[in-house]
Amino acid sequence: MQPSATATRPRLLVVEDEQHLAAGLKLNFELEGYLVDTASSAREAGGFMLQASRYDAIILDVMLPDTDGFSLCKKLRDAGDYTPVLMLTACDTTEDRVTGLEVGADDYLVKPFELSELLARVRSMLRRRDWEREKPQQTATVLQFGQARIDCSRQEATMRGEEVQLTRLELQLLQYFAEHPERVLTRQELLEHVWKLSNYPNTRMVDNFIMRLRRHFEPDPRNPVHFVSVRGAGYRFIPEPGKPRRV
Ligand code: CA
Repeated sequence: MQPSATATRPRLLVVEDEQHLAAGLKLNFELEGYLVDTASSAREAGGFMLQASRYDAIILDVMLPDTDGFSLCKKLRDAGDYTPVLMLTACDTTEDRVTGLEVGADDYLVKPFELSELLARVRSMLRRRDWEREKPQQTATVLQFGQARIDCSRQEATMRGEEVQLTRLELQLLQYFAEHPERVLTRQELLEHVWKLSNYPNTRMVDNFIMRLRRHFEPDPRNPVHFVSVRGAGYRFIPEPGKPRRV
């Protein structure tokens, strides 16, 4: 029997200029069974990224000596590389979080963070990637609602004919909504099925991503008609808002 791809050790690239932190992360990831390369600048990271060996995930600090993590992430995505990226941001401002996600990061963590949380989030990114690879194509390849059109297999989206840049996670969240139209989905359910995080205490991440889907695809993001909040419960995806619904 062929060994499965998941049986091989996942390879990570840690881009972090604080030597102590980089060394600590490398050690702890290695204890968890990962193969780890570290880079202390964007220039060094760029060299690693160009190598033929692709990484399973990249941990990317925002504040680097030569350039910032945002530009590096954008460069990666512009080059068509969709390796999962988790950004380490120094301060928890909405602007930083939004910028990270705008440039195509899959997740972010605010410094200082608990090591256990970083490990959980990286495991979650890798599980999502495996899930995406193994998942049979049960959803329609092209999703359409309102003036939005999303080609899932090509990871391309437009709103009113204008191109929208979607991250892998945004696409997965959209697909999960599309598979469960009209149903109330709780934040915990979304974390479990889309993020692959179970019993995760912080559900704010979900709200941030819904906010982004609304900004991308709602005719008026302040008065959403497709990604609707259900007070005290969660969210409901309504593909055709005008249509009478079964109660
Ligand atoms: Ca730094």
